[in-house]
Amino acid sequence: ERQITSPQTVFDKYEITSKKPLGDGNFAIVKPCRLRKPPNTDYAMKVIDKAKLKGKEQMIENEIEIMKDCNHPNICKLIEEYETGDEIYLIMELVKGGDLFDAITQSVKFGEQESSSMVNDLANALFYLHSRNIVHRDLKPENLLVHRNTDGTISLKLADFGLAMEVTKPLFTVCGTPTYVAPEILLESGYGLEIDNWAVGVISYILLCGFPPFRSPDRNQTELFEFIKAGEFEFLRPYWDGISKLAKDLIEKLLVVNVKKRYTAIDILCHPWIITRAGSIPGPDNMKEYQKKLRQDLLKEAEQNLESYNNEKRGRET
Ligand code: ATP
Repeated sequence: ERQITSPQTVFDKYEITSKKPLGDGNFAIVKPCRLRKPPNTDYAMKVIDKAKLKGKEQMIENEIEIMKDCNHPNICKLIEEYETGDEIYLIMELVKGGDLFDAITQSVKFGEQESSSMVNDLANALFYLHSRNIVHRDLKPENLLVHRNTDGTISLKLADFGLAMEVTKPLFTVCGTPTYVAPEILLESGYGLEIDNWAVGVISYILLCGFPPFRSPDRNQTELFEFIKAGEFEFLRPYWDGISKLAKDLIEKLLVVNVKKRYTAIDILCHPWIITRAGSIPGPDNMKEYQKKLRQDLLKEAEQNLESYNNEKRGRET
């Protein structure tokens, strides 16, 4: 249980640096803030209105619990939390470049290098979460924050863990956003971590062409869901004509209805479209070798991730 403090406690420590919010959602508003004392670090303050949250308190508690445990360069860090009579304040790492949704709206689509780098970031975040058996359940461009590196490149940071949870048995709750929803969620036969990988397939497709793989011409949701359940999509001409076979191959291996055959985060990280980006190209003759070694390393890392996560949890319980 969290201690209830006064808003003054929060604002004695942090000052709001701009009237203009960074963004907002259904229950919250996110503002830029700064630590009053040196090193005067800038953060993002998410202010959650408890009145609007009524009945969905568990959602925010989930978000806090999971974000607190996550320490990864592609996941937005939660620094600390406060609760007052009316609000919950989350102090988070500040990600200045807005979200990927806005970036897509502004640039319509991205080149292959940039897209591949973003999918790599996303796969790294999922590798970390999934090795701890945590499913995000709401992967979409609105929840991917854009961090601009000093060299002009961008990295993505995953945010909004409102629907995230630990998977210990099959889940049935129908949730998410229609464009990104996986077939097994719609089939209501139980689902798990794999739904996030389906969403990566949808996001990758959108990055490269600017529109989603599953769409209904007359915005008919029943029809949209039929396409998703059948896994029926195409690389529409002429938009996809100039895009590499490798990019299409990865998307085809993510938008697979059979969850057992769908690519995992490790599979994505070992796919040539991801590996051969940005110059660091292992020649085609040593690709197989390289992939084999990478896969072994990732499997080992996943095991270690789970072990340290379990140790942390055990440490908290005692
Ligand atoms: P929803 O109602 O969609 O679930 P929410 O209320 O949970 O939203 P978030 O999605 O966490 O809120 O944040 C809303 C918006 O605020 C984001 O889309 C993003 O533009 C901005 N934002 C969130 N966190 C940060 C951050 N750490 N740094 C910068 N901007 C952020």
